[in-house]
Amino acid sequence: MTYRSTRGADAGTSFSEAVIKGLASDGGLFVPEEEVLFTPAEIKDMCGMDYKSIAALVMSRYADDFTEGEINECVDGAYTDAKFPGGPAAVTTLDKDLSVLELWHGPTCAFKDMALQILPRYMKKAVEKRGESKEITILTATSGDTGKAALEGFKDVPGVKIMVFYPSEGVSETQKLQMVTQAGNNVNVVAIEGNFDNCQTGVKKIFSDKAFEEKLLRDGKMLSSANSINFGRLLPQIVYYFFSYAVLVSRGTVKFGDIIDFCVPTGNFGDILACYYAKKAGLPVGKIICASNENNVVADFLNTGVYDKNRDFVTTTSPAMDILVSSNLERLLYDALGKDCSAVRGLMDRLSRFGVYRVPSEALKFIQKDFAAGCSVRAEVSEEIGRIYNKYNYLIDPHTAVGVSVYGKCSDKARHTVCVSTASPFKFNACVAESLFANEIPEGTGEDCISALLSEKTGIAIPAPLRGLFEKEIRFKDKVKPEMMPEKSEDFIYDR
Ligand SMILES: *Cc1c(COP(=O)(O)O)cnc(C)c1O
Repeated sequence: MTYRSTRGADAGTSFSEAVIKGLASDGGLFVPEEEVLFTPAEIKDMCGMDYKSIAALVMSRYADDFTEGEINECVDGAYTDAKFPGGPAAVTTLDKDLSVLELWHGPTCAFKDMALQILPRYMKKAVEKRGESKEITILTATSGDTGKAALEGFKDVPGVKIMVFYPSEGVSETQKLQMVTQAGNNVNVVAIEGNFDNCQTGVKKIFSDKAFEEKLLRDGKMLSSANSINFGRLLPQIVYYFFSYAVLVSRGTVKFGDIIDFCVPTGNFGDILACYYAKKAGLPVGKIICASNENNVVADFLNTGVYDKNRDFVTTTSPAMDILVSSNLERLLYDALGKDCSAVRGLMDRLSRFGVYRVPSEALKFIQKDFAAGCSVRAEVSEEIGRIYNKYNYLIDPHTAVGVSVYGKCSDKARHTVCVSTASPFKFNACVAESLFANEIPEGTGEDCISALLSEKTGIAIPAPLRGLFEKEIRFKDKVKPEMMPEKSEDFIYDR
């Protein structure tokens, strides 16, 4: 298996190299050059396997420059019982035709752990295999969940350091505390006076500074990315679509060979793209439903073929989905445009120059074979949290609620549907508690007390990683203007 850029460069790149580089040299994203296809017999074999075995099997087809032993080492190190009590993923069936795939049982209580616990292990192996001796620094901009998950994944990994920038006003109290109390000797966290876009733009600027890159090279150092543009983050996400199918079949909820639908709360289009890759690889999937919040630029695109980011950015109760440029869509465009790299380049160029592009009608038809899409707004999300709790005695976070709400609106209910649950309800406790017990929360109640109240009212325990968060020592207090990001990064990289 080799990889190439969606924009044409870097053909023949190995998985290891793609993971180390993150982004292709022409600014495109790495995509597999060969099709992966599991036979029905191979998928049937997965029914009854545990998560780690399915993970190893799926990954071996995409990361074929890793030996079986190396893949097993990565998988075993990432998905331990200590980090994922009760297993990395859980399927809860709520109704005859509706299940929820819980992906938030990891160390940071959001689905980002599924990929960010294993990406550092791929990277370490890839560096060893390629005899890469440079010290790698991961620079990450986060709207909240990625930063913490990346810090947990990369902490104390030898030969790698990680620095996270978060918008000082853009994350929840819980998310902020998770980051500024981070343990580890190779980590740094800095607040930026600005929004997520300022952080993202700042990081991109550092990455594209050629003079800085050369200086680093001379000093035996390099930068890399932990954002979902890295194929090493996408691959672990393909696994849980196979896993959920295997679980449903082995429980008898669906028969082997039955087609199921998935509904995925979407931001940067990484999670849902992994579902599409699973379908391409032979998993019996019907519709893949894209669920957006008020920032519904992707849902509009899937319905109309026009991507238009020239609209107001809305701050919602599902902040991890507040995004107007969904990077991973480029990988779907590559397929929809018949792997025509110059056409992909043309659209991405229009996007950066005008903020808008339209795909040809055949491309839209190609996309709509697999995808459906819809959006839900704040009030609907809140109502859905209440409806699901009252009907099933089951607690969901606002991101998951966007998904379940859109499922209700957009699914034809012809097949069993799995709604992907991306965060623990306790991670976004303010919105959840407000939706269920608004009248019982005194104004000004802090998030620590809200979690306690939520737990007491519902009888559901606060997940261990979120307990005691408010008592932990704060290690990182830096807050700087976006212009200071290069200097801050350099200081960190050079241990100043
Ligand atoms: C990141 C995130 C999403 C969006 O996932 P994408 O892969 O960016 O589409 C949804 N929910 C939560 C809780 C997240 O952290």
